[in-house]
Amino acid sequence: MCGTDGTSGANGTGTRNGANGGANFRSNPYQPVGDFLSNVGSFKIIESTLREGEQFANAYFDTETKIKIAKALDAFGVDYIELTSPAASEQSRRDCEAICKLGLKAKILTHVRCDMRDAKLAVETGVDGLDVVIGTSSFLREHSHGKDMAYIEKTAIEVIEYIKSKGLEVRFSSEDSFRSDLVDLLSLYRAVDKVGVNRVGIADTVGCASPRQVYDLVRTLRGVVSCDIETHFHNDTGCSIANAYCALEAGATHIDTSVLGIGERNGITPLGGLLARMVVTSPEYVKSKYKLHMLKEIEDMVAEAVEVNTPFNNPITGFCAFTHKAGIHAKAILNNPSTYEILNPADFGLTRYVHFASRLTGWNAVKTRVGQLGLTMTDDQVKEVTAKIKTLADVRPIAIDDADSIIRSFHLTLHEQPGKAAPVKVQNGEPVEVANGL
Ligand SMILES: [Zn+2]
Repeated sequence: MCGTDGTSGANGTGTRNGANGGANFRSNPYQPVGDFLSNVGSFKIIESTLREGEQFANAYFDTETKIKIAKALDAFGVDYIELTSPAASEQSRRDCEAICKLGLKAKILTHVRCDMRDAKLAVETGVDGLDVVIGTSSFLREHSHGKDMAYIEKTAIEVIEYIKSKGLEVRFSSEDSFRSDLVDLLSLYRAVDKVGVNRVGIADTVGCASPRQVYDLVRTLRGVVSCDIETHFHNDTGCSIANAYCALEAGATHIDTSVLGIGERNGITPLGGLLARMVVTSPEYVKSKYKLHMLKEIEDMVAEAVEVNTPFNNPITGFCAFTHKAGIHAKAILNNPSTYEILNPADFGLTRYVHFASRLTGWNAVKTRVGQLGLTMTDDQVKEVTAKIKTLADVRPIAIDDADSIIRSFHLTLHEQPGKAAPVKVQNGEPVEVANGL
């Protein structure tokens, strides 16, 4: 074959491109280099429903509810569970201790101000680590705690060294990072990195950042510190999932989430929404690490606890997330679901639904429904009954029951017409009796 397969000579060297394509692929100087910064296939989740989520307007979690949520998140596979500071209230401190005693696989963190008293209280609860936070933006420095950068750096180092001396993990984060002075931020993070902090945090506390800004800041920071980078994105401008994704692409290692995104104001990156994004990008990593079929149960549990409904347009679990309506979509979906689905509902223990009770329906969708009802019709008959459904749906909105009634009564008339044989359902090549009005 060599020299006759049409590839030799084409490149003027006489070497073949076919059989050893792999070797050529590796040595091809035009091959794009891998993105070595990106962590889209190796990120960790810091689940903050029991901290950020407690700041949601409707949230009040009693101890029992906190334990139920913590256990569910642990079973789901999150890496960390973050709890409200024990300094917030006496009950918060007791709850923190109770959750630490559960012996969960997930590491337990608590979120504290950059203050030695808070750090000492937290260390005594038995947590695995502390997420230390202080505001560094000029707004917060002037109007909140009133401390300058030199004071912030000195206190940060003291608190970090204390936590490390207790053998615990420590993250240091600014608040409102995107409106902090970049030079201040980078020199502070470089200083805490030098004393051995485990992670530094970038927090878009006001939800002002765009994905491009996130990418630039995280990438710049990646070049300055050697520790891990945690990120926290509020959703005021609707960018919390996109920002988390861009942060991972730029080299962030940890993403803060909450169930349904609940948190201060309209919340942060939602756990389910982030995983919808990441399962498309890194299916093996996400599917092997997280029990995705538990997502709906966990969202329902939290929705009930804070008395909200899951939004209709929620990724994965919104009531119509896997509903296909237009006739063209339905036909293609019935042939091959990947035509109009980037996510597979089965990965989440859910099922797709082909909507057939509307004037946009097509006969393929109706044919499937006829089968689900245990009825048998020829294609021409299905087309005829589809026309009847569309006629009614042109007049008023119709429910599934309406469409089913039309199908059943049409099926009945087929039996009643004199001289016309009743349709027979066939199973395994044998005719079977079909009860009317199934
Ligand atoms: Zn927040």
